[in-house]
Amino acid sequence: MDTSLKPVARNAEETLDPEDWAGVQTLSHQVIDDAIGYLRNVRERPVWQDMPGEVRASFDAPLPQSPAPLADVYREVTDTVMSYPMGNIHPRFWSWYMGTSNFTGALGDFLAAIQGSNLGGGNHAAALMDQQVVNWCKEMLGFPASASGTLVSGGSMANIIGLTVARNAKAGIDVREQGVAAIKKPLRFYGSDQLHSCHRKAMEALGLGNRALRRIGTDDELRIDLSALRAAIAEDRAAGLQPACVIGTAGTVNTGAFDDLQGLATLAAEEGLWFHVDGCIGALIAIAPENRWRVAGIERADSVALDPHKWLHAPFEVGCALVRHAAAHRETFAVTPEFLEMTSRGLASANWLHDYGLQTSRGFRALKVWMSLKEHGVLKFGRLIDQNIRQGHYLNSLVEAEPLLELVATTNINIVCYRYRPEGFSGERLKALNTEIMLRLQEEGTAAISDTTVHGEHCLRVAINNHRTRQGDLDLLIRETLRLGAEIASRS
Ligand SMILES: *Cc1c(COP(=O)(O)O)cnc(C)c1O
Repeated sequence: MDTSLKPVARNAEETLDPEDWAGVQTLSHQVIDDAIGYLRNVRERPVWQDMPGEVRASFDAPLPQSPAPLADVYREVTDTVMSYPMGNIHPRFWSWYMGTSNFTGALGDFLAAIQGSNLGGGNHAAALMDQQVVNWCKEMLGFPASASGTLVSGGSMANIIGLTVARNAKAGIDVREQGVAAIKKPLRFYGSDQLHSCHRKAMEALGLGNRALRRIGTDDELRIDLSALRAAIAEDRAAGLQPACVIGTAGTVNTGAFDDLQGLATLAAEEGLWFHVDGCIGALIAIAPENRWRVAGIERADSVALDPHKWLHAPFEVGCALVRHAAAHRETFAVTPEFLEMTSRGLASANWLHDYGLQTSRGFRALKVWMSLKEHGVLKFGRLIDQNIRQGHYLNSLVEAEPLLELVATTNINIVCYRYRPEGFSGERLKALNTEIMLRLQEEGTAAISDTTVHGEHCLRVAINNHRTRQGDLDLLIRETLRLGAEIASRS
């Protein structure tokens, strides 16, 4: 029957629930079967491939007015979206920095959507689980149980949460009521010149402006220079500014460098500054037995941003902000409008979770994290982090063994910066050669890597945040880099 032609009686009541539950059940079984095949065979597919024109054009289709069978809708999704992914679940995806998802987490997202609960707050089980996952994050980092926290969309938002609490705590006035214009001495925040770009956006959104974030130079290993930081703070104080917050990075996005968190914690305490740690890459190293020494001191932070969709491989999105001083956290965001007053019993008798961030309605992000942690246990996640770091160092050794390859930065953890450098190539020509290698690796579907500039030198960048990568994948990357490098160099 063509339902599009069926007239809808004026007073008929409708619903989005299927008319044919049995048919939907059969199709859903197919969806699950396909999903499992998709994951199981991910290694056999290209990492990434560009879309043919007709697939690209399909996204210009107009707003559908009338119904279509769900099976047709699903087929279209299979042919378009599922066939042309970003590729970050592939064993040879090492671009930028992100996790590789996992099936259990995907089931969690499905069940969360089926239950459909709103995590703005309320007295229901999902809200308790949300708090439990925050508590587990505190436990993983050695943060006190009295700290507060919130699950957010990702690391950028987690950093904004921490920096907003820092601003309000250090402003010396009631920023919420009076606004930033009433702050008497302009606030200054500090971080290294390797800081992630989200901090700039945070400063802009907080009304402090990009200039309020002072970038401090780094040492050879790209860690913040503590004596330069001290000098900058003294200079700003003398100039009548108000040093407010220092941001330490546990794992920089360029090279995976770790600032000296113990040193920063001590300096922040001495100078009366808020100590925020951007731990989007490295905070979770706290659960990895061979490498946790790198984040010693993170437990002394006033606030931390971490990113379960990176090294816990939760499906996007989930980040987490932790704040040592629960009261300061609440005081920054809590508002009780008349329509959200709490009651002593019933559905509205629990803590409102929207009091810890900017969102009112919130998705049930905790379930995907909770289910994977329960299934595998945190020790396995710790071992997987150590595994990626060992793989980073293995790749480092492969680069060192090849005369035509050159390391461009020290390999700290799982990020390796290298380039192909034949004799006679330098500057822009060398950059063009390496960029071409990167693009060919992507276009041939072999591997997805990115590029960056470190100490002013352009390089290829491999970030192994991937529980599917095997040593052989890294061997292949080196072989292909050498093959493509030779081929491209001979023609340029
Ligand atoms: C990934 C990352 C961020 C941003 O996190 P998103 O989850 O992408 O929003 C911030 N800081 C660092 C160091 C990161 O690696």
